[in-house]
Amino acid sequence: MTRGFFEAFGHDPEGIWAAPGRLNIIGEFTDYNDGFVLPMAIEAVTTAAVARRHDDVIRVSSSGAPATTTPIASSRICNLTPGNTASWSSYAFGVVWAMTEAGHAIGGVDVFIESNVPIGAGLSSSAALECALGLALRDLFASTISLQDLALLCQRAENAYVGVASGIMDQTASLCCTAGHAIEFDTRSGEIEQVNFDLSAAGLELLVIDTQVHHQLATSAYGDRRSACELAAKAIGVKALRDATLADLDKIPDDVVRRRARHVITENERVLSVAALLRSKRFIEVGPILSAGHQSLKDDFEVSCAELDLAVDTATHAGAFGARMIGGGFGGCVIALIRSEDQRTIERSVTAAFASDGFTPPRIFGALPSPGAHRVM
Ligand code: ADP
Ligand code: MG
Repeated sequence: MTRGFFEAFGHDPEGIWAAPGRLNIIGEFTDYNDGFVLPMAIEAVTTAAVARRHDDVIRVSSSGAPATTTPIASSRICNLTPGNTASWSSYAFGVVWAMTEAGHAIGGVDVFIESNVPIGAGLSSSAALECALGLALRDLFASTISLQDLALLCQRAENAYVGVASGIMDQTASLCCTAGHAIEFDTRSGEIEQVNFDLSAAGLELLVIDTQVHHQLATSAYGDRRSACELAAKAIGVKALRDATLADLDKIPDDVVRRRARHVITENERVLSVAALLRSKRFIEVGPILSAGHQSLKDDFEVSCAELDLAVDTATHAGAFGARMIGGGFGGCVIALIRSEDQRTIERSVTAAFASDGFTPPRIFGALPSPGAHRVM
């Protein structure tokens, strides 16, 4: 893990920090409606190997950077300005900028990033990168920052520096999750609760089916759905859809807006139901709720696509207890709750179904609730 750092900078790092990708078990599009989400960390991590420098220069390099970018990006910390590049290095620079802006005395560093979190698949490689570096900088320069405050700083890096409007779930999950647990996270109050989800002890796992497709619609649909939710909250007369109930739906005149709101309201209830099931260790009963979530994303929120539906249907027919698309939609991943011993059979069925429909072969792997960000060496 230190070789890439040495090759880039010609000396050894002081330490290596890792932060995982995450998947959200249930609670899709609830975050910007002040609602609940239930993420867990996955095994795949991004590592940041870091060494302090004697000046205020930050140099970053990544084995996962596109070949077209310069191998090492660098800047003086005092020259970092939000929004002037769309390059991958902005995710790293943004973290330094946000921590500096918040008054922490961050000095110059050399940083080498490596990752096995799939990029752009909805497993949050961006938060994994920010959090690995954020944790390193906290340990080296600003040890008093709490993990939840660090999550806010990493989110600010992404929102204000990179210019991507994303919620607080990803960074919170990457930093605060623990092995064998999901976190029930109230995005309004910021409260988090560790909920036991020891799948492996129960002989279960979540199968991640990465369709490897990204349909163009995703970007425009995000803003469109967000506005529909705001309209719905206004029509109902609540601050956010978190405060609405199914009975309120009659107050929304427009059919499409009403269905968008119905997804958010029922999805919030699904998060609470799943969290309650986990607390009583009734893991298998989570399956049908995942499938109900998918149906709602497909029919009411209308963000699914043929590949996602095929993955959900095939996995379920092949023995999964339930499955749903995760992330922004129009591509990305599906998760399916399965018995570990059924993994091969389900994988084969899904792969065969994709081949027979002429879709790109999916990438399939098992996921268990894994540790959050930590120092590796
Ligand atoms: P995701 O769902 O994976 O978070 P995003 O579009 O939010 O997708 O973030 C992906 C972007 O984050 C990449 O395009 C790249 O700019 C940056 N990134 C993530 N991981 C790495 C890495 N290992 N090396 C370089 N850049 C990375
Ligand atoms: Mg991201």
